Amino acid sequence: MSSAQKRIQAVKQHLTPEQKYAQAVDPVASMNEERAKASFDIRALTLLMDGGQKQTDLKEKIMQELERDPLFKMDDIHDISKSELRERTMEKFRSMLHYLQNESVETFKKRMEIVSLIDPGFWTRFGVHYGLFVGALQSNATSGQLGYWFEKGALSLSNFVGCFAMTEIGHGSNVPGLETTATFDEASDQFIIHTPTLTATKWWIGGAAHSATHAAVFAQLIVKGKRYGTKCFVVPLRDPKTYNTLPGINIGDIGKKMGRDGIDNGWIQFTHVRIPRGYMLQKHTKVSRAGHVKEPKLQQLASRVTMVADSGHFSKKALSIAIRYAAVRRQFAGSNANGIETKLLDYPIHQRRLMPLLAQTFAMLFTGTEMTDMYNIMMSRLDGAKEGDEDLDEVIEILKETHSTSAGLKAFCTWNCLNTIEACRQACGGHGYSAYTGLAQMYQDFAVQCTWEGDNTILTLQLGRYLISCYRDALNGKKLSPGVGYLNNLDNLIGKKCQVKSLEELLSPEVIIEGWQVVCANVVRNAGIEFEENLKKGLQPDDAYEQCSQSRLYAAKLHSFGYLFNRFADGVSKISGSVHDILIKVCLLYGLYSIEENAGAFLQYEYFTPAQIEFVRSSVNKLCAEVREQAIPLVDSFNLSDYIINSPLGRKDGNVYVHYFEQVKRSNPQGEHPYFNRLIKPLIERDIGGGDYEDEEAGLESEDEDDE
Ligand SMILES: Cc1cc2nc3c(=O)[nH]c(=O)nc-3n(C[C@H](O)[C@H](O)[C@H](O)COP(=O)(O)OP(=O)(O)OC[C@H]3O[C@@H](n4cnc5c(N)ncnc54)[C@H](O)[C@@H]3O)c2cc1C
Repeated sequence: MSSAQKRIQAVKQHLTPEQKYAQAVDPVASMNEERAKASFDIRALTLLMDGGQKQTDLKEKIMQELERDPLFKMDDIHDISKSELRERTMEKFRSMLHYLQNESVETFKKRMEIVSLIDPGFWTRFGVHYGLFVGALQSNATSGQLGYWFEKGALSLSNFVGCFAMTEIGHGSNVPGLETTATFDEASDQFIIHTPTLTATKWWIGGAAHSATHAAVFAQLIVKGKRYGTKCFVVPLRDPKTYNTLPGINIGDIGKKMGRDGIDNGWIQFTHVRIPRGYMLQKHTKVSRAGHVKEPKLQQLASRVTMVADSGHFSKKALSIAIRYAAVRRQFAGSNANGIETKLLDYPIHQRRLMPLLAQTFAMLFTGTEMTDMYNIMMSRLDGAKEGDEDLDEVIEILKETHSTSAGLKAFCTWNCLNTIEACRQACGGHGYSAYTGLAQMYQDFAVQCTWEGDNTILTLQLGRYLISCYRDALNGKKLSPGVGYLNNLDNLIGKKCQVKSLEELLSPEVIIEGWQVVCANVVRNAGIEFEENLKKGLQPDDAYEQCSQSRLYAAKLHSFGYLFNRFADGVSKISGSVHDILIKVCLLYGLYSIEENAGAFLQYEYFTPAQIEFVRSSVNKLCAEVREQAIPLVDSFNLSDYIINSPLGRKDGNVYVHYFEQVKRSNPQGEHPYFNRLIKPLIERDIGGGDYEDEEAGLESEDEDDE
């Protein structure tokens, strides 16, 4: 028993039964009781997950600054209108410039990571300029062009706010199918940007409706009548002094959305808008003064690794609310409980609903960190590489793998996170439906992550395509990069069966890793065989891929889950002590839960027998109960302040009812009835004839007669 638990025990011995009851059901006492169970150093886990003391200090400093900043007031956010929200968002936008100009890039990135958790709508408004617009410049501009646009104000936001105009009302995922044209006019050395049809209208463009002065426009490059595909062009939209739109530019607001209303998404049409040739970003494809087009040798690689970590961060916030609430919310008393109702967290079913999601959150966080590190290392190796360098091929292979795997992981992690938010909302019962408890808005704000930056289904299919090509390369003897390395080992994996005979033997990361490798090898091979058969039937490769899209998607799904477990297990293997002891349980819970969720594949490919799947199920139950004991310390290790969580149900002190009631009263002050005289009075006082109820006994007469 810990010293805190001993102290609680000593105090309890001197209480009357009434006091004991009151204390037993007191939410604050319940929370303290849970916190006292910590079997590991909570701070050590926080430091580990944040990446060290310096990172945690920085995070805490930023959380405090934001909490004290009146512009970042969040407790009334649920009751303000779209226009107020947009205006307030712009005020925050302005205030961020101070930090942008005075902080290092790393510190500012951390600030934005925290801001995204507090106010996703604001983060998007800022992110559209710095993430998407500046990101488009960085990916597509030559270094000279980048310097030019930075000097024009793109970095400092002076006379400049950018937006990112790729999607059209008629096309989103199919970027090559975009209809906006950019036709080179040799005579004037200009491009003519044009919206030829209604379906070519740029749509959903964040910041276009009211904020942006410039857009990174994706349009079909046409030179001397020939089309060269979709390229990126900077197009001025508004006069930065007057904010009037420039000639040929039509802009409108697309209005209210499911969430993130702080950002002004808009539509744009271009009517023969002329821009200098130099406004086409020419890092990859180049168009000369004479109209010669030079196309790039290397395919561009993008990565979505940050969205894996983002999914982990939003899941942390949702679970902080649902798990803290479950630790203090009580319903129904057990037969031996002296009338003291049971904490939700003590119900095995409630543990089943939340503990695997907690484990999944750690899996996403570990994977996000590991992938980001790997991506950064590879990018700096690529940037420093010269043509002919020996390791260039290896770096490109690993980057291709990171690119494809991060596409699939973006999809499954954002789906996981959205499901986690909804599961948390339901786990909070009726109060989960109140705007003030935060989960409803979180769901609405997060949902778009499954659609933008690549629709999840499309991204998953991309990963499936990559896996098939890896399978074919492996058959041809090519050594694959580590994440898909199991495809070099097909002979061993196909048909392999698990040998465990007991529950204990199953509790091993190695067994789980092997299991995932076996099913992944099988499903990727099946997709590959199906693809080959389609080719043999005479289909073109694209059509052959299309015909096996179900198998591709399935292969990508299992590969992504297997990958998540691998990264998590790898991360945990590097840790020691009491933090390791709890994380290994969490890791095994995640691994076995994800197997259980995909039990069909493990049975189909006979890695597990039905009896072994029963072991898996029992182990998940057992691990849920064990992790439940540490649930509050684990949530505490997320180290999100009450301000960031912004939900009375997720309060660290556990005093949920007091905070909830205060919030509801504060946000809904009782005044004069707003529409009694105009609507209710005439309704209830209308004359319907014979309505004199004064002498009646409200329906009791007949019962009284029976009594006589
Ligand atoms: C809030 C919000 C903000 C946005 N901000 C911006 C912005 O600032 N700039 C910008 O350019 N865009 C923006 N977008 C657009 C976003 O990037 C697109 O909505 C997204 O890329 C999906 O494209 P789409 O809407 O055309 O869907 P579609 O591509 O039409 O997809 C519709 C459905 O069909 C499925 N589908 C499509 N093709 C296939 C296929 N080949 N095989 C199987 N299934 C398929 C998809 O999975 C999806 O379920 C924003 C969107 C939202 C919702």
